[in-house]
Amino acid sequence: MPHRNLKILIAGGGIGGITTALALRRRGIDAELFEQAEAFRQVGAGIQLSANATRVLRTLGLGEALARVGVYPEGRDYRAWDDGDRLYYTPLGARAETQFGAPYYHAHRADLLDVLLGGLGEEGFRLNAHVDAFKQDADGVTVTLADGSTVTGDLLIGADGIHSTVRGQLFGREQPRYTGNVAWRGLVPAERVAHLDLGRVTGVWMGPNRSIVQYYVAAGRTFNWIGISRSEQPARESWLAEGRIEDALAEYAGWHPTIRTIIAATPRVLRQALYDREPLPDWRVERVVLLGDAAHPMMPFYAQGAAQSIEDAYVLAGCLAANPDEPVAALERYVRLRQPRTAWMQGLSRREEELYQMNDVAAIADRNARMRENRIPESATFPPEQERLYGYDAEAVLRAG
Ligand SMILES: Cc1cc2nc3c(=O)[nH]c(=O)nc-3n(C[C@H](O)[C@H](O)[C@H](O)COP(=O)(O)OP(=O)(O)OC[C@H]3O[C@@H](n4cnc5c(N)ncnc54)[C@H](O)[C@@H]3O)c2cc1C
Repeated sequence: MPHRNLKILIAGGGIGGITTALALRRRGIDAELFEQAEAFRQVGAGIQLSANATRVLRTLGLGEALARVGVYPEGRDYRAWDDGDRLYYTPLGARAETQFGAPYYHAHRADLLDVLLGGLGEEGFRLNAHVDAFKQDADGVTVTLADGSTVTGDLLIGADGIHSTVRGQLFGREQPRYTGNVAWRGLVPAERVAHLDLGRVTGVWMGPNRSIVQYYVAAGRTFNWIGISRSEQPARESWLAEGRIEDALAEYAGWHPTIRTIIAATPRVLRQALYDREPLPDWRVERVVLLGDAAHPMMPFYAQGAAQSIEDAYVLAGCLAANPDEPVAALERYVRLRQPRTAWMQGLSRREEELYQMNDVAAIADRNARMRENRIPESATFPPEQERLYGYDAEAVLRAG
């Protein structure tokens, strides 16, 4: 039954905003989403989707569509940058799916977007609709769009990314923190790297001051790599900033031939500065709340930014469905359930930089020895951190809290 009196406005049509619109609709709650761009868009790059996210997407009815476009990795393979020695291995595939109750996938972002939009359908959003500002009172929220028009609803969700306008108006326009790292990205037609026998794994290569993560996407037709390297000079913080192949090769000079061959085979490289923010203790002021990167942007080392926005979306919709007559209290509950977990992830993601990108030779040798010793045998259980991360069941969280 639709909740007739509740209309939710959503600023931003990224993975977080679209999943929120979808999750609300599945609960019978009316939502309208405003995206500034003229079309929904995701950058040409890969994305890892862990069990905590795919469990939600499956519950939203997208499991089969996701399985059609996703690549199902067997494990995560950590390697040394120079000789390619395997340092550590975490099983994924069927073993992780059994353990965590949902699959782990690699996907092309455009494919994920198609899956989400397939669920959303043709209604409930406006493109070319930049949310400029909002006003709220005891009865509702009114947003003003860039064309001067206004729209009124009961609540506003700011899912408008790391530079969120909604966050700026709620809590002040503070710039995000430059992390001192840039990300290099490339997509390579699979046939160009077929001879490298890269396997169906998430490959993680760790070297001094830089790292590379790589995996197949698009049902195996395309190979994706993301390099992260320290840089004093931030590049443009845009997904679409072009980089140069020769610069990427220079950045990974001396690295294992596998890595250099992959980079050299890449038709087009993107280079983007990485920013994050400190955890925000509260994401809400009365009828307006934040979600996804607008609330908790994080470094990409745990591949969790989008996954956390998907969890947010499901929990938010569940809180509103459980208490539609008191939507402000429902938002409060949503923040209480979600803020501690995402703050934990923001902290872990920052700390992981040190593990991936250390540059002291003795420290690297030490880390490598530790990783080799601690490799997870196929029969062992997963580390507690992974249990907490991938085992998260948004539905159970709603039931318990
Ligand atoms: C290098 C790298 C690798 C990553 N890898 C992974 C991974 O493997 N797995 C994972 O889970 N996460 C990953 N992430 C994180 C993930 O990409 C982000 O966390 C996720 O895309 C955030 O989604 P979002 O919807 O919150 O924000 P965004 O994707 O930023 O979407 C915000 C949307 O709002 C729109 N918008 C902005 N302002 C307004 C406005 N005022 N009015 C209307 N519309 C507006 C924008 O056009 C945009 O469409 C990675 C990030 C990086 C940088």
